[in-house]
Amino acid sequence: MLNLDHSIVEKYKQAGVIGKKALEVGESLAEPGALMLDVAEGIESFILGEGARLAFPVNLSINNNAAHYSPSVGDRTKLQRGDVLKIDVGAEIDGYLSDNALTVEVGETGEHSDLIDATREALNAAIKKVRPMIPINQIGAEIGRVITERGFRPVRNLGGHGIDRFDLHSRLFIPNYDDGNGQLLGTNMAIAIEPFASTGIGMIHNGPGGNIYILDGTKIRKDEILYKNFNTVPFSQRAVSKVIPDYQKYIDAMKKNRELSEFPVLREHKGVFISQAEHTLLILPDEVIVTTA
Ligand code: MN
Ligand code: MN
Repeated sequence: MLNLDHSIVEKYKQAGVIGKKALEVGESLAEPGALMLDVAEGIESFILGEGARLAFPVNLSINNNAAHYSPSVGDRTKLQRGDVLKIDVGAEIDGYLSDNALTVEVGETGEHSDLIDATREALNAAIKKVRPMIPINQIGAEIGRVITERGFRPVRNLGGHGIDRFDLHSRLFIPNYDDGNGQLLGTNMAIAIEPFASTGIGMIHNGPGGNIYILDGTKIRKDEILYKNFNTVPFSQRAVSKVIPDYQKYIDAMKKNRELSEFPVLREHKGVFISQAEHTLLILPDEVIVTTA
């Protein structure tokens, strides 16, 4: 377990503040007709300009897509009025990460306000429950209760997670419903809580690749250029294109060699709408800090 001394807590807080501001940048850019590419690049330039690195590529997921899409190099997809857009971003300071997300309705048509409110309220309710030694399924039960009461389904196969240094998804899983896992939450740890609410069945499946990659931890070569740039956090095709001119060939070769894998887009079927809200929390023995609040 991490020993969260003062300097580590400070780094988590710095990463949290930058992540929170980056979400605000994303919200301001998410206008009808905007290129998703410009929204992603705008958010990422902000994070880098604050002196942090990316905890992971900006995820921009529309309507029935829940997560794990980042615009590709030259992506021409535009946001449209009424799109339910999840913006999920994070900053990295010396390996300490933030991870936060919100949902906006592009053009503010108000069609999906209830869906968007459901995850924000579920997240707030869950955060109030968080303390050391609480059974993890009680957090999930609270999320599931709020989302269900508002007439939607929690997404059961997505959830929150532990966060360690350079490790966005450490083993701990925090469900969005009562999954019966009575394991107790520890202390001196970072976690992300991320409710997803759906107008569909509340189960996502894998779609095509979403331009987000991660190195296989068992095959790391310390002098390899992607490891030097991204360590063991996820990175995008766009980010690779900025350090390797022949980026697609390099990615394909690494993929073939199973040194790298691509995350599939996580989605429900067409016609479904999904919302998400997320914060990063530090669980300290005498205090819970929401670093991205
Ligand atoms: Mn996230
Ligand atoms: Mn997360």
